[in-house]
Amino acid sequence: MVASNNAHKLQELREIFALAGLTGVNLVAPRDVGLACTPDETGATYLDNALIKGRAFARAYRAQADHRDLGELWVLADDSGLEVDALGGRPGVHSSRYHQAAPGGDGCAALLQEMAATPDAQRTARFRCVLVLIGPDGQEYIFEGACEGRIAREQRGENGFGFDPVFLVDDGRTMAQLSSAEKHRISHRGIAGRRAAEFLMRLEAT
Ligand code: IMP
Repeated sequence: MVASNNAHKLQELREIFALAGLTGVNLVAPRDVGLACTPDETGATYLDNALIKGRAFARAYRAQADHRDLGELWVLADDSGLEVDALGGRPGVHSSRYHQAAPGGDGCAALLQEMAATPDAQRTARFRCVLVLIGPDGQEYIFEGACEGRIAREQRGENGFGFDPVFLVDDGRTMAQLSSAEKHRISHRGIAGRRAAEFLMRLEAT
């Protein structure tokens, strides 16, 4: 099963599937099966971008499998982002580009600076994740998850990735201060990933 070249996402999805009790599934990144596949994420929504990535991986894999007989494969694509209400939902689908464009690649610092004058009551935000699963027959399945929170005043915590150090959850910790199991219980990817795992387990049982 091919997911993403993003090592953080891949590791999280492996843990989420294992915690959900889905065994016997081997999640590998495109580059692990020799695919150089980096399609432009030009979609206007998470779903558009997840479909762009998933379909490109599936096409590239089929083209390669014709030659190397690598067997059947499901493709899993993740598109996700952070929506900040005070910024009209930005950075949203452009979250990864927001980090790339920030000085020193520090998107968290850039976000804190952009929101320096935003009062606490208006610092609400959410992470969203859309997973697209594509079967060997080309059938597509969609799973979604969201996690509500607030943007902190400073970065805290060493775990996770991306905007985790500035995303406050209900108990006042940032997402980066949670253990991975704690994050998966409440996170956008944890919710969407459990839905995908349950679907695959139902399929295995039939
Ligand atoms: P994508 O690879 O185009 O889907 O971009 C996802 C971006 O959204 C990442 O680069 C992060 O900035 C942000 N993001 C998505 N999920 C998470 C998460 O679980 N924690 C922190 N940031 C995330």
